[in-house]
Amino acid sequence: MDQIKILIVDDSEMNRSILADMLGEEFVTVEAENGETAVDILRESGREFSLVLLDIVMPVMDGFGVLTEMKNMRLIEELPVIMVSAEKTPAQVELAYELGATDFIMRPFDAAIVRRRVMNTLLLYAKQKKLLGIIEEQIRENEQNSSLMVDVLSHIVEFRNGESGLHIWHVRTITEFLLRKLATKTVKYPLDETEITIISMASALHDIGKIAIDDKILNKPGKLTPEEFAVMKTHSIIGARMLEGLTQYRGNPLVRKAYEICRWHHERYDGKGYPDGLVGDEIPISAQIVALADVYDALTSARVYKPPFTPEKAEEMILTGQCGVFNPLLLECLSDEFVYIREALEQEAKDGQHAREIRRFSDALGYAKNTSTSDRTLKLLDYERMKYNFYAELTEEIQFEYRFDNDMLIFSPWGAKKFGVEAEIMHPALDTRLRAQLGKNWFESFKKLVMAVAPEKQDFRYECELAIGGEKRWYNIIVRAMWTDDLPPRIESFIGKIVDVNDMHNTITALKENSIRDPLTGLLNRAGVLEDVGRKLSRFGENKYAIAVFDIDLFKSANDTYGHLFGDRVLREVADRLVHSTRAGDLCARIGGDEFLIIFEYNTDIHPIIARVFHALCGEVDGFTLSVSMGVCEMASADETYTGLFRKADVALYVCKKTGRGQFRYYDESMEGEVLPAEETQTEI
Ligand code: GH3
Ligand code: MG
Repeated sequence: MDQIKILIVDDSEMNRSILADMLGEEFVTVEAENGETAVDILRESGREFSLVLLDIVMPVMDGFGVLTEMKNMRLIEELPVIMVSAEKTPAQVELAYELGATDFIMRPFDAAIVRRRVMNTLLLYAKQKKLLGIIEEQIRENEQNSSLMVDVLSHIVEFRNGESGLHIWHVRTITEFLLRKLATKTVKYPLDETEITIISMASALHDIGKIAIDDKILNKPGKLTPEEFAVMKTHSIIGARMLEGLTQYRGNPLVRKAYEICRWHHERYDGKGYPDGLVGDEIPISAQIVALADVYDALTSARVYKPPFTPEKAEEMILTGQCGVFNPLLLECLSDEFVYIREALEQEAKDGQHAREIRRFSDALGYAKNTSTSDRTLKLLDYERMKYNFYAELTEEIQFEYRFDNDMLIFSPWGAKKFGVEAEIMHPALDTRLRAQLGKNWFESFKKLVMAVAPEKQDFRYECELAIGGEKRWYNIIVRAMWTDDLPPRIESFIGKIVDVNDMHNTITALKENSIRDPLTGLLNRAGVLEDVGRKLSRFGENKYAIAVFDIDLFKSANDTYGHLFGDRVLREVADRLVHSTRAGDLCARIGGDEFLIIFEYNTDIHPIIARVFHALCGEVDGFTLSVSMGVCEMASADETYTGLFRKADVALYVCKKTGRGQFRYYDESMEGEVLPAEETQTEI
């Protein structure tokens, strides 16, 4: 009856079992797989629980729904709730606290944190409860007992003297220890769980008769006179009569036990006690045990007439018969339980009236400190998860997991961001934001595809075009189906990634390619020339270089006569001829409308090369007479720049055009006088 009961509400079976394992055997855990089931359990037996661990996102009814129901049932004030979640937004936190939640635990779980939070919450709540509240809770099993206890105890509380508060608790604790031990030693006394509970409770009433004893006698420092002692002894009969006087409760088992205890807790096993001089088992076992407990606590407590004895001394005095004769079996129980009783009483004295509650919890905490094998495994699992989550956040990858048991899709942080959704999505097939980005029937198609492949292949990938974040792109979807250990195995989840087909490197390369190439001819454009040329010319010395710039003669007429598309064909034809007449190391570019550039790399004589290329570029294209004018400039020293060389070749080209077209010329300084302003010598594409 002392075990703390915790309700775990989570739609994922794995999360529930991890939490239950972490809490360990010291707690009784009850599990609910959704909010509605949780509310049913709470409605039925909510007051049996000490704590609720509550997930936020769940099917049927979510965590907020449960909190609201608990509020309606007026359960939230007395039953602490810790929210358990993978993600929390400030709005969620605010709402949860507003509805009465006590704390938050983030997934992935850390075993130590879970236990610490649970213990803290339990202790906090225990401390908040008033003395009567605690007693009430412990005797809740029996509503009738409970109201009786309240009646009687409030009666006592009115009259008790200063020391009896702790004394009552101590006697009760010792009684319980002795009863449990005795139950393991003999079947002579019918000590089932109910009986133990009732006797322990009733023990609290053993001295109620003292209420009627004169305070001068009760609290007299020093030895009582025989007359005073005679008065003092009447407290047992008085207590019994008080209970007899509770006529409406006369048949109640608790009242009957209390009667036995009050009347006979000063009897002794050898018949030398009072008031009735009963012998051996004529004395009810309840009274025998409380008598022993009473003596032990009296010896170890300070009284107005004596200082406290040490527990060891008290034990010795009792065992050697200095305080009267007790049932030998009970003395055995006392010896066996001595260490535990001593510790329990010390703890109670330290913590006052909440001691019992706190001891229960600290026992559990003590358990928590002993890390078992399964805890270690869980810790490792946690470690792996944390590591996984950390990397998932760093990699900026869209990772996902779909679970069939709760129809939930979970995204990596980056994935959720890309889709503009939460990390956990219930019933993803119905989610409008996902449908907008992936297509209306995306989920069905996806499932069909994976299910069809999964039996043969664990992993598979396919390419498809998706509009994630509104932008259409091609993605690689890589999926692994996760199977259960059942027979036959089932697929319980899909895990996977969505990867952009163009990774970063490809994207940059493609962008670069596009920006430096002329789409019509596939040759480099002016930007492309500038990209390459510096690298080329810097190797001057190993090789020689020459720049040739040429322009198609009367190209306008091709456009005018045959149309623009025909003009394009001529341009492509020129590019073709150019590529075929130059070598791989040469650089060919279209730098303007019908203007081209070649940078030759050579180490013999340039003239035959120029002549060959020039002639290759002349001829006929479908009725159009193709000829070019070409200016050439050789690089003479390592100091010369591309811009300087280009200008010179262009001057030579200008001279060609001016002096009759269809020719090539090498630049020489005498040409400088012929020059036009630079901007007019080239046409932009
Ligand atoms: P010149 O011998 O003096 O060079 O005479 P031209 O007719 O070739 O005159 P110019 O080089 O100044 O004219 C080039 C023409 O090329 C002008 C423009 O209409 C044409 N052009 C420029 N780019 C393109 C293109 O991409 N496609 C086509 N079809 N024509 C182009
Ligand atoms: Mg031209």
